[in-house]
Amino acid sequence: MAEHHGKVIIITGGASGIGRETALQLSDQGATIVVADFNEEGAKQVAASIEAGGGTAAAYKVDVSKGDEIKALVDWTVDKFGTLSGIFNNAGIGLVKPFLEMDPESYHRVIDVDQHSVYYGMYYGAKKMVELNVPGTIVNTASIYGSVAAVGSFNYNAAKAAVVMMSKSGALELAEHGIRVVGVAPGYIDTPILGDNQEVKDALASQHMSGKLIQPEKVASVVTFLFSDAASAVNGSTVAVDDGFLSFKTR
Ligand code: NAD
Repeated sequence: MAEHHGKVIIITGGASGIGRETALQLSDQGATIVVADFNEEGAKQVAASIEAGGGTAAAYKVDVSKGDEIKALVDWTVDKFGTLSGIFNNAGIGLVKPFLEMDPESYHRVIDVDQHSVYYGMYYGAKKMVELNVPGTIVNTASIYGSVAAVGSFNYNAAKAAVVMMSKSGALELAEHGIRVVGVAPGYIDTPILGDNQEVKDALASQHMSGKLIQPEKVASVVTFLFSDAASAVNGSTVAVDDGFLSFKTR
């Protein structure tokens, strides 16, 4: 399948989890991928496995919480591959603390990495697409925690709720330039961000209809669809990939 042939797509957080799987699926469908991550070694490994499979990819070390680094990433991508068709603003962290221990540093760190990064990716990505006069798609990773509060997640709840609204607001202003903006709201996905405490993971899994964690490939396949022309009528909304989490109170 070459649905994404000729496209050049930046994926932040591409070294691991959801970003990694999306990089593999989009490249399988013909896209050139810039695997952008703080974890340079991991990004290089993902790019190498894409290249080994006959695809085109490059690794790029970036700290998404820094606007000048995202701007440089966008410029570098266009210098190297000649265009920009999409950006998946996906890198993120969690930093769980009770609210009364949510000191300014813990609050701002998550807002910087999970929220401001999405603004930087949207802003510098969209400006470049408009400058190049090309259509494009921006996908932002939100979360079920963008609409449901969780204990210890004040910072993360705030950041992800902002991502949901930024996708709507960005879509509204960028439509006239042929740029579509959508969000994805994963449930509990089996990636390193969940940590390695099996009891915690089982408790999270029990909140899904299947009783299991969601595999990152399942989010990647939805994101890959959202980047496609088949999803051209999906604009501004955030699509839940949550195995029913947002649809019921108790299973
Ligand atoms: P992950 O830990 O496997 O991947 C996150 C990636 O982001 C890592 O490769 C990490 O190096 C990178 N990253 C972190 N901080 C960075 C920074 N400052 N600059 C550049 N890269 C940075 O986790 P994941 O589950 O694949 O997470 C991807 C996204 O999905 C995140 O935004 C996360 O909040 C969101 N999400 C995850 C879950 C889940 O249950 N796993 C649920 C909802 C939303």
